[in-house]
Amino acid sequence: MKLKTSLTFLAGFAACAALLVLTAVTRSPTKGIPESELDVYSPGTEDLEPDEMRIVALGTGMPSARPKQAAACWLVELGNGDKFLFDIGSGCHERLAAQKIPYDYLNKVFIGHLHVDHYGDLASFWLGGTVMNRLVPLRIWGPSGSTPELGTQHALAMMKEMYAWDIGTRSGVIDFRGGVLEINEFPFDGVNKVIYDENGVVIRSIPAVHGLDGAVSFILEWNGLKFVYGSDTIPNKWFVEHAKGADIAVHECFLPATLLVTKQGFAPMEALMVGTQGHTSPEQFGKVMSLVKPRLAVGYHFYNDFDIEPEVRRRARKTYDGPLALASDYMVFNVTKQDIRVRMSAIDEEVWPSPALKKKIPPDTSGAIAFSKFTISGALPMLEVVGPIFDEINEMYGTQAEPIFK
Ligand SMILES: [Zn+2]
Ligand SMILES: [Zn+2]
Repeated sequence: MKLKTSLTFLAGFAACAALLVLTAVTRSPTKGIPESELDVYSPGTEDLEPDEMRIVALGTGMPSARPKQAAACWLVELGNGDKFLFDIGSGCHERLAAQKIPYDYLNKVFIGHLHVDHYGDLASFWLGGTVMNRLVPLRIWGPSGSTPELGTQHALAMMKEMYAWDIGTRSGVIDFRGGVLEINEFPFDGVNKVIYDENGVVIRSIPAVHGLDGAVSFILEWNGLKFVYGSDTIPNKWFVEHAKGADIAVHECFLPATLLVTKQGFAPMEALMVGTQGHTSPEQFGKVMSLVKPRLAVGYHFYNDFDIEPEVRRRARKTYDGPLALASDYMVFNVTKQDIRVRMSAIDEEVWPSPALKKKIPPDTSGAIAFSKFTISGALPMLEVVGPIFDEINEMYGTQAEPIFK
C-alpha cells in the first residue's frame, strides 16, 4: 500500500480563494479513524452520491511516461453510474486498473488528439481488457483530421490490423466480446457540437490548436455540473468562450521553456517553440483561466516534482489568482454544486481483475487459428504433468476438457 500526501480544499464561488478546512476530530487508542475523516481516497471503497462527480487524474505527465506519472488520461465518474475516459495515454492502463472498476463500466473513451501520449495505451486497454473481464464492446470517440488518413477512424482501423496476431491468439480461445471496437469519428472543426447525448450526459467538442488540424477539447455536462478537458492546445478562443461556467476546467500547463532547456535538453529555440507555440506555458495557462474563471482550474502535462511545482505555480500565478490545482497522478476531485474536494489516492499495487459482470460464454472454437505441423512438432506434451491439472479442474467444475498437445 502506497500512501500519498493529501489535501482538502473548497473552491469559493466568489472569493476565488482556496479555503483550508479544519474539522474537529476525536481519537481513540483502540478505534480506527472514521473513513469520513481520512483525507485520502482508496479506490473502490467510496459510494458516489447521486449528485456527485468524481474525477481521477490517471495520467498527468509528459509524453514519456515515468513511474510517478503516466501520460494523459482522466477518468470521470458520475452519480448516475456512467464513467468516461478522456485520453488514454502511454502508461495509464495500470493506473486505470488500480481503480478496481469492472471493465464493463469502462467502455467509453474520448480521445482529444492522436499523439501517442494521448492514446498510446488504447491497444493495451482494448486487448488487455478482454482478459480483465470486459465483455462489452469498447466505444471510442475521436476527431477527424484534415484528410481521412489523419483521422481517428483510420488510426483505429490500422490498430486492428496491427494487432491481428494478438487477436488471432484469443479468437476461439476466450470469450472475446470485449474485443469489439465501436469507432465514432466526429468532425474536428465542430464548435460546441454535441458528440454524445445519453442518459442525461451531454458531451460536446470544440476545436483545439495543437500539432495539426484534428485536435479537440471536450465539455461534459451532467446534472448541472460541467467538466472541461483541454487535451492539448495552445490558448484558443473556443476554449475561452465555451469553458466558461466550468466546475472543473483541465488545461495543459506545460513545463516552462527554461526547464525544457535545463532539464530536458531542448535547444533554446526548440524550447520556446514547443513550450509556447505548440503547448501552453504556465503563464499562458494562467491567462486562459483568468478569462474562463472556473470553480477550479486544473493544470497538468508537466513533471510534477517538489522542486518543479513551485516554479510552475509561480509562473501561473503571474496571470491567475483563482482556485488552482496542479495535478499529479492519482489526484482525485469530488465535485458537487456545494463543494470541490481534492485528495490524493492510496493505491493497492497488487490489484487483480474485477469480476466479470456478465456470464461468460464458451468461445466459438471454429474461429481459432491452428498451429502449423512444424510448431506442434516442437511441443513437449508432458501429459504426466498436465493430465492431473486437467483432472483437478474437470473434477471441480464437471467439465471434460482435454489437453491440445498430446
Ligand atoms: Zn499532443
Ligand atoms: Zn500531450
